[in-house]
Amino acid sequence: MTAAPRTFRIAAIPADGVGKEVVAAGRAVLDALAEDSRNTDDAFAFAWEEFPWGCGYYERTGKMIDDDGLDRLKDFDAIYFGAVGWPTVPDHISLWGLRLKICQNFDQWANIRPVQFLPGVTSPLRKADTTELDWVVVRENSEGEYAGLGGRNLSGRGPGGEVAVQSALFTEVGCERILRFAFDLARTRTRRKVSSVTKSNAQQYGMVLWDDVFRRVAADYPDVETESVLVDAMSAKFVLHPEDLSVVVASNLNADILSDLGSALAGSLGLAASANLNPERRFPSMFEPVHGSAPDIAGQGLANPIGAVGSAALMLEHLGLPDAAARLHKAIEATTAAGVLPRDLGGTATTEEVTKALIDALNA
Ligand code: ATP
Ligand code: MG
Repeated sequence: MTAAPRTFRIAAIPADGVGKEVVAAGRAVLDALAEDSRNTDDAFAFAWEEFPWGCGYYERTGKMIDDDGLDRLKDFDAIYFGAVGWPTVPDHISLWGLRLKICQNFDQWANIRPVQFLPGVTSPLRKADTTELDWVVVRENSEGEYAGLGGRNLSGRGPGGEVAVQSALFTEVGCERILRFAFDLARTRTRRKVSSVTKSNAQQYGMVLWDDVFRRVAADYPDVETESVLVDAMSAKFVLHPEDLSVVVASNLNADILSDLGSALAGSLGLAASANLNPERRFPSMFEPVHGSAPDIAGQGLANPIGAVGSAALMLEHLGLPDAAARLHKAIEATTAAGVLPRDLGGTATTEEVTKALIDALNA
């Protein structure tokens, strides 16, 4: 007799635009995986609850998320998120009102964004061996440039007109935990290397603290190769010497920019997956594609679901299902290798067709 399936409670928040389409795709693929596991010793299942929050909800109710929303989310095993933002709602309201609110309240201080090159996908790098490349951007997700410190209308300063100040917050604890996270991640990879990225030649307080903590933490990991690179130089390195990268760790803003660059180099923003982790597991972690709501293609069945499906694979790893995650990665590779490509990758496949191909590839 096989054991009862391990059931994971997942909160789905598709939110806006293509977020709805790619979350539906990811759910279908995850349910197919679970269905497949049914009569095995490793059976697992997903109990989904979907929440309607996002910009449409804001327009109807004046709220991006219900007042008790965080409370209702806090006991889920994970959150599967689409994308937030719509032209009718200012970005600072939609982003802070939902996504960043969840990240901050659930202390999801580590954001990982793998950059993965896929067979059958042309990279603008056009290197013969691009599918051999893979690196991961680790983003500090709780402070830095996104700490929300500053203000507008600070009178009496500057040459006249309105004055605004935007500060970045760097704490020793915040730097140390993300840097240790990066080193621990490097130890799980074939190439044990951490590249730390700052702009500490021009940002002389916070980023110098980051560099100091990096040197101190590195001493505890003598088996891991290290380098400290300025963000401008790292941007060039992404393009010119990506084979030299394994784990790239940076502050909130720098890592956000670098990971978009990484996903574009891999072929498209639509491929990029991410996890917002609360590594202590006191709160649920959140898994989402890197891309936004893409209003220009929303509702047309054109969205690439691979970023969302790759995020589902990161969720499986987090839930302790590494074999299922590996199967999902293989299915993604088989799908792109077979030439089933959505429009952003130069193909003609719809979201639904790519999703079906992924599900078929699970069983191939
Ligand atoms: P955000 O502010 O939320 O990061 P953004 O303004 O940076 O959003 P996106 O919504 O990510 O922008 O879209 C950027 C471009 O990438 C758009 O042209 C969009 O169509 C394209 N894009 C984004 N996601 C996908 C996807 N899943 N499939 C295909 N194209 C996508
Ligand atoms: Mg963006």
